[in-house]
Amino acid sequence: MKAKFIGAIERVTGSCTLLEHSEAGLRFLVDCGMAQGDPRALASNLAPWPFLASRIDFVLLTHAHLDHCGLLPRLVREGFTGQIYCTRFTAELARLNLISASTMSGAPFTRMDVELLQFTHVDELNGFGWGKPFAITKGLFASFQPTAHIGGACSVTIRWRNGEDSWKEMAFSGDLGPNNDEVANQSLLAGRAYLSGAPQYLLVESTYGGRVREPQFADANNRLKEWKRIIRSAVETVKATIVVPCFSIHRCQELLFDIHVVLERNLREEIVSVRPWLTEDAHIENALQLGLRGNKIDRPINAMHEWPKNRRDHFNEIFLRCEEIDDSGKLHTVYRPIADDNVTLEQARSLVREMRVFTPKVRIQVILDSPLGQRVTSVFRRELKRCMPGSPGVPMYRNCALKELLGLDSQVQVDALTDRLFLGERESESKFASYILRFCKPEETEDVMKDGDVNIVLSSSGMCDVGPVVPHLIRELPISTSTIVLTGYADPETVGGRLRAVSRSSGNAVSEQLNFGDATFETSNIRAKVEDLGGYYSGHADSDGLVDFVFRRISRHTIPQSACRVFINHGDERMRQALAQSIEQRIGFRADTDCSIAGIEVPTRASAWFDLDLDKWISDEPISEMDELRSMLLRLFLEQRRTNDLLAETLKLQRPPRPGQRG
Ligand SMILES: [Zn+2]
Repeated sequence: MKAKFIGAIERVTGSCTLLEHSEAGLRFLVDCGMAQGDPRALASNLAPWPFLASRIDFVLLTHAHLDHCGLLPRLVREGFTGQIYCTRFTAELARLNLISASTMSGAPFTRMDVELLQFTHVDELNGFGWGKPFAITKGLFASFQPTAHIGGACSVTIRWRNGEDSWKEMAFSGDLGPNNDEVANQSLLAGRAYLSGAPQYLLVESTYGGRVREPQFADANNRLKEWKRIIRSAVETVKATIVVPCFSIHRCQELLFDIHVVLERNLREEIVSVRPWLTEDAHIENALQLGLRGNKIDRPINAMHEWPKNRRDHFNEIFLRCEEIDDSGKLHTVYRPIADDNVTLEQARSLVREMRVFTPKVRIQVILDSPLGQRVTSVFRRELKRCMPGSPGVPMYRNCALKELLGLDSQVQVDALTDRLFLGERESESKFASYILRFCKPEETEDVMKDGDVNIVLSSSGMCDVGPVVPHLIRELPISTSTIVLTGYADPETVGGRLRAVSRSSGNAVSEQLNFGDATFETSNIRAKVEDLGGYYSGHADSDGLVDFVFRRISRHTIPQSACRVFINHGDERMRQALAQSIEQRIGFRADTDCSIAGIEVPTRASAWFDLDLDKWISDEPISEMDELRSMLLRLFLEQRRTNDLLAETLKLQRPPRPGQRG
């Protein structure tokens, strides 16, 4: 068996490793990802591969992010007809993600190519278990282990015969999530599993190879406290919008849970205390002295027509309505007690306390405005509730701590709530507030927002450049009572990245233009608060987590451990070198690790094949004339097909609609 590291070399995206088992005559890939996020990406996604797609027998897929699965349809387009092995969760998310990606400009494939993908759901094979090898073909096995990165994400281990009685293994980490078996603070997924066998080779990602997560970000309570602060401030404002740009896959579902927890458990009973002027004596005195006016009094005063008539009359007997101009020249309606004798003031005080009873409930709406997000959420609804085949009651993916987070007594209740939340059907009410969750089409959202006092709008894309979130940002950025909450990674050059810079600049940044494709926005016109909760929502393990994954094994004391050679990819050069260094340090530092390290390799673009049986780098075999000819013919064929597609598209646009056909 030999391996060639094709993608995610010296960068974070485009994961792809080619493996060749010459004795069995097999060639296969682990992941076939798209390069993303930098100017080289487009060219790199169209560049010829160092293999013929038609000669790949199958693909092992770790997870549904485009940087791991994004070029699978191109593989099919170029002649691949084999199976893609992954979990059912991954297959369903990948299909949705790829269909959405097929509409991006410059996509090297069409929706039709996506529909031709053939997935084998490994978790539906007979006898499936996490870490349990299943045969792909004679002498070659694979096993999957969950990594807590996103729903369905796994590490993959291959096992092949290399001699009469001897076997070898190589593990591919895929992307590793932050939850582990001790700390699982991200809401949805149980901690990542350690490798179960004793692989001689490990390819590990290094996205955060040089970073250790600050402890405050690893605490779920801090994350929820931040949400509580943001939502509370919006409720105080009375009418306010919170826009939450988010990734459709995984982040959106985590947010639905977090916001639900804050609203139901933390806020409902405290709505009164977030309007202290209604209940606390000091605030009441202050309000009587200054007169009842301003945002904070709007709600009860505006709702006066809904009060019982006798209380309304009583209010008009005690308070005098005046028009006053404030320091900034604005005209306000102000209500002052008609006299300052003790009897009148006491009546005024008790009436202000009473206003709470007449005040309409704060209506809080959580709106998911993302067609892809809604489709993905329905996959999560089914998969998160799944139990291990043959082990009812043992969840496949779900974080058991979710029960405590939600304050529920049983997993059955968690399942029921998951259903309601992920169908967009949650509604609840308390004495002072109502909370309703709604899934909307982008064209409906603005109308629906009119029903809410506080609207929390979750919308994609997380990077903020495109998607249904754009009109929400353009509308809310100039409004001082609005808040934009960033919840994940955004490339520094994207709108999300620029907004993050604004949130950190405390107003000192030079104004620049945010580019939303068709529209632009000057950052100097931003009046909304920009809050950054990105640190709380990382989907990646930090450097400590990665090192831990390299050294730990499930079967630590049962199998004699052989030394493991570690290949580092899927990270920029700095992160890869930093991870290599951390692994080196741990070799000398910890005696209780489960395996020894045979060597650390940091492949480069120029790296040739690594022979996994001989344990050494070997030079590239010269390409045969026949292969070269085949490859050239294929490229010609693809060029021709691309031209045909373009031509067909142009003709379709030019053709006048037939009678009866709507344009
Ligand atoms: Zn990923």
